[in-house]
Amino acid sequence: MTALPSPEILLNAMQAIVGANGCLTADADTEPYVTDYRKIYHGKSPVVVMPSSTEQVSQVMAWCYEHGVPVVPQGGNTSLMGGAVPDDSGTAVVINLGKMNRVMAIDPVNDTMTVQAGVTLSAARAAAEDSKRLFPLRIGSEGSCQIGGNLSTNAGGTAVLRYGNMRDLVLGIEVVLPDGRIFSSLRGLRKDNTGYDLKHLFVGAEGTLGIITGAVLKLMPQPRASAVAFVAVESPEAAVKLLGEARQVSGQAVTAFELISAPALELVLEYLGNAPSPLADRHDWMVLIELTSGADEDSLNATLMEILEAGLGNGWVVDAAVASSLSDAQTFWRIREEISDAQTRTGGSIKCDISVPVSRIAGFIGKASAEVLALEPATRMVIYGHMGDGNVHFNPLRPKDRSAKDFLAQWYKPVSDLVDGLAHAENGSISAEHGIGVAKRDDLNRYKSPVELQLMWQVKRALDPKNLMNPGRVLPQLEDK
Ligand SMILES: Cc1cc2nc3c(=O)[nH]c(=O)nc-3n(C[C@H](O)[C@H](O)[C@H](O)COP(=O)(O)OP(=O)(O)OC[C@H]3O[C@@H](n4cnc5c(N)ncnc54)[C@H](O)[C@@H]3O)c2cc1C
Repeated sequence: MTALPSPEILLNAMQAIVGANGCLTADADTEPYVTDYRKIYHGKSPVVVMPSSTEQVSQVMAWCYEHGVPVVPQGGNTSLMGGAVPDDSGTAVVINLGKMNRVMAIDPVNDTMTVQAGVTLSAARAAAEDSKRLFPLRIGSEGSCQIGGNLSTNAGGTAVLRYGNMRDLVLGIEVVLPDGRIFSSLRGLRKDNTGYDLKHLFVGAEGTLGIITGAVLKLMPQPRASAVAFVAVESPEAAVKLLGEARQVSGQAVTAFELISAPALELVLEYLGNAPSPLADRHDWMVLIELTSGADEDSLNATLMEILEAGLGNGWVVDAAVASSLSDAQTFWRIREEISDAQTRTGGSIKCDISVPVSRIAGFIGKASAEVLALEPATRMVIYGHMGDGNVHFNPLRPKDRSAKDFLAQWYKPVSDLVDGLAHAENGSISAEHGIGVAKRDDLNRYKSPVELQLMWQVKRALDPKNLMNPGRVLPQLEDK
């Protein structure tokens, strides 16, 4: 094994490529880049490098490859899985894409937008809106997360039901490979059957195969109307039936169908300064429904009422508040979107981001809740998320009278294993949209077949033979896989 270059040699080389302004080394400056969003993972890096062009990324990567220096690609650092920060060995260079934040082109005829990878999701959405188009990815971290990070995690969010996840929204990408070569498919083609569709290797790879530096994204027509309701449902099973009805009645108009449990609502209302609930009474289960379409407001509202009336008639719906203004709709959405931060502030939540087929989601919730409550009956069952995709954030939260530290020390591992195991048994996934990072890496040994793991490693070795790209993330230890 050859020795790594000294910190001085490394820094000189990086400064020669990106300039002194593009390198951070002081602990106080690097801290936000080596600590993850939830402040669970704290790593070290000799230098955080901020390139401002693909050519600079390429030169940085080529130098690191030649000298055996590991690299950690980083976007907005909003990963919930510890995937965007280095380990504590202090050897890996963090390559942060924040300076590559230009929207390069919008083609309204082709309905595409070409961006650098460091454009934040909110900036991409705003640029699309300026051109009277929609870029539909919608997630709670949109002000900080970047398109490169969204692609690398195959981000999902609240509009997947209608528009798909990030993999469905990309037509081309540009990637710098571990040895510095640039692979580009920035062409914006909807049809291109010329062999392997290589871009998809990098989508969801969490920075383990290369650094995404640019992308061509799909744009959609802006909806002319939206209708939003906050609905109390009789049970998760009733919610699934209501979803089926809503899709049947409205066709493609169901954009979001988000489940919210009573403990999730109580937590977020308290976090929002004891904000009032949209509904008069307490209910165990609620859904936030959003319809959007190119039709006019009146006919979309009529469709929503038809769905709710059918739900009431069938006993699936118990109560409902229909947004009568944009401000109402924003209030409903704020409640949904702040649940994640409300948990972070409270501390002591066991985050499981599972998916199962929609037909099995209600059964899964019932079984998993009962088993968790049998272990610690006062646990607050914060369960919410994208029920329309069969994906819920199943996040048991510490009882009010227990400290986060004690609760997590006792239950984090057994409860995560229990919930993941139940999801797996229902043909589900242990990570629906947050990825694997370091948090779930070793669990893959249990939930992926040996053949899947072998294939993952074969792809990894083919593209990153020196194992320098975000090492120790996603793929479980090499051993004899
Ligand atoms: C409040 C909140 C709400 C969230 N809601 C959702 C949600 O609804 N749905 C959802 O899917 N996620 C959600 N997330 C998780 C997170 O925001 C997403 O995973 C997001 O896509 C990460 O983007 P990022 O730019 O912050 O990436 P980072 O956190 O910086 O990186 C994530 C991973 O991608 C790699 N990476 C980053 N940029 C690049 C690049 N240019 N090239 C190669 N690899 C790269 C990193 O190495 C890392 O492994 C939420 C997070 C928060 C904090």
